[in-house]
Amino acid sequence: MSEPNIYRVLNPYDDSVVGEVTESSREDVENAIAHAAAVRETMADLTAYQRGVILDKASELIAAQVELLAKLMTQECGKPIRYARGEVKRAVETFRFAADEARRLHGETIPLDAAQTGAGKIGYFMRVPVGVIAAITPFNFPLNLVAHKVAPAIAAGCPIVLKPNPQTPLTSLRLAEILTEAGLPGGAFQIVIGGADVGEWLITNPQIAMISFTGSVGVAQAISKNAGIRRTTFELGGNAAMIIDETADLDGAVEKAAVGAFAYSGQVCISVQRVYVQRSKYDAFKQAFLERVDLLVMGDPLDDTTELGPLINDAAAERIQSWIEQAKSSGAMVLAGGGREGRTIQPTVLEDVDLQMKVMCAEIFGPVVNLIPFDTFEQALAAVNDSEFGLQAGVFTSDLKRAMLAVKRLDVGGVLINESPMFRVDQMPYGGNKHSGVGREGPRFAIEDMTVLKMVIIQS
Ligand code: NAD
Repeated sequence: MSEPNIYRVLNPYDDSVVGEVTESSREDVENAIAHAAAVRETMADLTAYQRGVILDKASELIAAQVELLAKLMTQECGKPIRYARGEVKRAVETFRFAADEARRLHGETIPLDAAQTGAGKIGYFMRVPVGVIAAITPFNFPLNLVAHKVAPAIAAGCPIVLKPNPQTPLTSLRLAEILTEAGLPGGAFQIVIGGADVGEWLITNPQIAMISFTGSVGVAQAISKNAGIRRTTFELGGNAAMIIDETADLDGAVEKAAVGAFAYSGQVCISVQRVYVQRSKYDAFKQAFLERVDLLVMGDPLDDTTELGPLINDAAAERIQSWIEQAKSSGAMVLAGGGREGRTIQPTVLEDVDLQMKVMCAEIFGPVVNLIPFDTFEQALAAVNDSEFGLQAGVFTSDLKRAMLAVKRLDVGGVLINESPMFRVDQMPYGGNKHSGVGREGPRFAIEDMTVLKMVIIQS
């Protein structure tokens, strides 16, 4: 038998050791799935009352350790502590919303006698758990994105095996302890640790009934090739856009754009990457935006004032820097930033960009935003849609007709009027179109995917 591979989780800000974990072997993955499968019936048999109690208790336990969880997250993923605290508070709500949904999970009656041959029959369908779920999660929201898979799985009555990003496993290990304390049956939440190999062993195991993935398009493509015939949901990337027309409240839009583009160094799937501004307001917006960007605070993520910390690793910082250089050599102007100190990239604002540039057409996942003037509102809508992604978009206007046209035309999972595309609360349906994903999260909607309909017909 080979030695277990123990590796150290390093803080992306200063490379200090945050913890140690053991990488899962193939046998570990198989055992985890077998344990989860063994409690399938136990989970399915929990009453709605019991599922609600476990989820509410988990929510309370998370609420009681906001600071501890936030600090752990900040250390393992470099997220500024102010945003990490916000994430923990959102996870408190995610579990609470899942508890509510557990209590109202139900089916419907079907009037079978509406069919010629249905006379004398009573029909109804119910929602039953899909079975063992494999969840694979990214580095950037180590608590709340895990909560968006684990909490609905519990509400639906499904055991779940999670593979977090190997750079950020510690928060999910802490969450497993919390769920045990909350009374979740042993075996119902398993964690396996590792990268692509461990992920592939997990999703190709025949006992897995559903794959719930959040991450990048490239990995989603690999997973969809391996998934076979089973339920799969994908929450993927984006290059979110904002439209600011001539009737918009400019000051409000400036603030939302600056926070939306640069919070957590842009490592958010709905980070603002493209800002389309009506030409008559372009110069005024640009000036106010650059003044606001100048006030952003870079530094140690554990410092309360920090808004931009390090990128997750050297490779991410190098990739972003090379995309900025590529844009510059193709004619883009750097209005702010453009440089980096180690893994921390300055908030960078570009103009004179085009769709051939990676900073525009791909997901940058870093602190870079593009300013683009437009002439007509229709042109701006078409430009937003001219992307392989379609997660969320923000439209700033005081013209109701334009707002409603945007709602109709934009090919995205969420249209936000006079709000940043980076806004999200946890009970709403959240997800994208095109390469931004398949399916929606938010406990009520994830539970729909984590359950199957069972039809019952009774001949009276
Ligand atoms: P990633 O795609 O590199 O990794 C995601 C997960 O997939 C990790 O756990 C990784 O170990 C695993 N993985 C890698 N190769 C695999 C394989 N072949 N089979 C199975 N699993 C495999 O993403 P990341 O860098 O951790 O996170 C950033 C990405 O996540 C961005 O694209 C971002 O937009 C996206 N994201 C999307 C949402 C959303 O809700 N739509 C939320 C957060 C992040």
